[in-house]
Amino acid sequence: MRLILLGPPMAGKGTQAKLISEHYSIPHISTGDILRKNVSQNTELGQQAKAYMDRGDLVPDELILDLVRHELDATDLDNGFLFDGYPRTIVQAQSLSSYLKDKDKPLDGVILLRVDEKVLVERATGRRVCGNCGASYHLKNQPPKVEGTCDLCGEKAVHQRIDDQEDTVKNRLNVYKKQTEPLISYYQEQENLLEVPGASTPAEVFQQVLALIGA
Ligand code: AMP
Repeated sequence: MRLILLGPPMAGKGTQAKLISEHYSIPHISTGDILRKNVSQNTELGQQAKAYMDRGDLVPDELILDLVRHELDATDLDNGFLFDGYPRTIVQAQSLSSYLKDKDKPLDGVILLRVDEKVLVERATGRRVCGNCGASYHLKNQPPKVEGTCDLCGEKAVHQRIDDQEDTVKNRLNVYKKQTEPLISYYQEQENLLEVPGASTPAEVFQQVLALIGA
């Protein structure tokens, strides 16, 4: 299965990507995760990307295209793949289309998660993550048992991502509208856009995804 997961920040792409990639046993390629790893390891790419990420802006295409090329060269794509958070601009989408054409690996579908903006802001500003193991919490819906301490790894490292602060979240949504939403018509024209309402529980959204991609 060769898929892209598209949608605004906090639509649940990361959660669905994990479920889908495990279901099909396909690599999950998340440019956000790769960038965050580079930032935490303080690599040259991480240093270049950090300021954009902290502001909620997109990292420039040149850096992303390079990063993705390296990642794809190092990944076995024969059984399929799932992109999460990539592409995010028309330039990235065109680059991916031409890469997949060269490799003769056409997409099976582009899954678009649709969620209301109000829900997205609420999800983002309430989200807390563990800086040690990556576990995710929500202040209202799923707080850690002991404030600030991760239920899973026990570290006192549960905090708010800089880019989950309200102003930054609003900027990320504006950036999505301006730079990423045009991809909806790009993929509609190629007739492989599948829309899924993303406001219900992760398990319900996942069932709808499976129903649409015919698993
Ligand atoms: P995410 O976790 O996917 O929301 O990504 C977090 C941040 O990483 C974004 O707000 C961007 O700053 C950056 N980022 C991730 N993927 C891309 C991409 N494909 N193009 C440009 N910037 C990206």
